[in-house]
Amino acid sequence: MQVRLVVFGRQGAGKGTQCALLAERYGVPHISTGDMLRAALSEGSPVGMEAKPFMDRGALLPDDIMIRLIDERLHASDAEHGFLLDGFPRTLGQAEALLDLLGDGIDAAIDIDVPLDVVKERMQLRARSDDTPDAIAARLAAYEDDTVPAIEHFDEADLLIRVDGLGEIDEVFGRITTVVDERISVA
Ligand code: AMP
Repeated sequence: MQVRLVVFGRQGAGKGTQCALLAERYGVPHISTGDMLRAALSEGSPVGMEAKPFMDRGALLPDDIMIRLIDERLHASDAEHGFLLDGFPRTLGQAEALLDLLGDGIDAAIDIDVPLDVVKERMQLRARSDDTPDAIAARLAAYEDDTVPAIEHFDEADLLIRVDGLGEIDEVFGRITTVVDERISVA
C-alpha cells in the first residue's frame, strides 16, 4: 500500500504523537523536518549551523533551504512507497513546491484542528530546548501567518481533510485513520 500524507497542526495539537502512530499503521517513514533540523544541529552539520538562529527564535527557515532538504529526503529509497510529512510544508511557497515536485502524488493533507487558546494552554505545560515563551509565541504566529495559507492551498486542491484534534490520543487517531482509509480506498 502506498500512502502519501501531509499532516498539519499547530504546535501543541498532538501532531508529533499522531504522526508516529500513523507512520506505524501505514508502514511509511515519518519525515519530520523539525526532527531533521534538530539532528543536523546536534551533529553540527552546515544545515544545522544555518538553522540554529532561526530555530532559536522560533522563526521559519527560508523556503529554498527547506525545499532542497525535503526534495533530497523524498528521493531516499525508504520514501519510494509512501511517506508522512510532518512540519513541511509550512508556507505557501513550500506547499506549491511540494505539489510541483510530486504532481498528484499526495493522497491527503490532514489538519489536526485544535483551537489556538487550547494549544497555548498546553504549551505552557511542555518544555523543549527551543520552547522559550518568545519562541512559542513566534511559532504560533508563524503558523497563523505562513502556514494557514499553505493549508488553504491544499484545501483548494481538494486534498485537505480537517479532523477535530480535541480528545484522547486514541480518539483523534481513530478519526484520522477513518478519513485516511476512506481516501485511500477511493483513490
Ligand atoms: P518543528 O519541530 O516542526 O516545530 O520545527 C522546529 C523548528 O524548525 C521551527 O520552529 C523552524 O524554525 C524549523 N522548521 C521546521 N520545519 C520547517 C519548515 N518546513 N520551514 C521552515 N522552518 C522549519
